[in-house]
Amino acid sequence: HVEPRPVHSGEPHPQRQRPGKGPLALRVRLAGVDGAGFDVTEAGSQKHLAVYVVRDPREVPGVARLGPDPLSADFTPEAFRALLEGERRQIKGVLRDQSVLAGIGNAYSDEILHAARMSPFKLAAKLSEEEVERLYAVIGATLQEAVERSRGLALKDLKAEKKSGLRVHGRKGEPCPVCGDTIREVSFSDSALQYCPTCQTGGKPLADRRLSRLLK
Ligand SMILES: [Zn+2]
Repeated sequence: HVEPRPVHSGEPHPQRQRPGKGPLALRVRLAGVDGAGFDVTEAGSQKHLAVYVVRDPREVPGVARLGPDPLSADFTPEAFRALLEGERRQIKGVLRDQSVLAGIGNAYSDEILHAARMSPFKLAAKLSEEEVERLYAVIGATLQEAVERSRGLALKDLKAEKKSGLRVHGRKGEPCPVCGDTIREVSFSDSALQYCPTCQTGGKPLADRRLSRLLK
C-alpha cells in the first residue's frame, strides 16, 4: 500500500531505467500475470514516498491517521464545522492535511478555494458560519465532479483528464475562467499554490513568502 502523498502511478514502461534517474520510485511486476504491474513515481525534489505491503490497509500508519472522506454520508456540515473549530492554521494547509480530510491534495485545494472565492491564507478558525457552509458545498461539488470526470478512464489518461479540468491550479499567468484576471502563484520551497486575486483576495496579490524572505 502507498501512503497518500503527491505521487502518481501509471502503467509500467517497457525499458529498464537506471535507479536515481527521473521520478520513478518503484516498479511492480506481478508474477504469473502477463505484463501486469505498475510504476510508482514521485515528482519534486523532496522525496516522501513510502510503500507498505500489508494484509489490511489500516496497518499503514498514514492510512490509520486519515481524516474522514469528504464524499461519505457522515461528512455533514456540522462535522466539517467541528473539524475547523480551534484550527489555527490557514485554510489551504488544513484542506490538504490528510489527517483532517482524506483525499484533497495541492491541486484540488486550490480549485476548492477558487470556487469558494476564498483566500488560501484565511485562518480556518476565523471562517464565518456562511463561509464554512459555502466551503462545505464547494468541497462536495468539486470532488464529485472530479470523480465523474475520471470514471471509466484508463490509468494513463487520468492525469491529462485531471489537468484539463483544473481552473486555477498549475495555470499561473493564464486568465481566470470566471473573471479574466491573471492567475497568480505563491511558491514555497517544495510546492506552489495558484489563485485568482479578483475572485479570492479582493484584487490584492498575496505576498510570495519565498521571494519576500530573499529580499529582506
Ligand atoms: Zn477570477
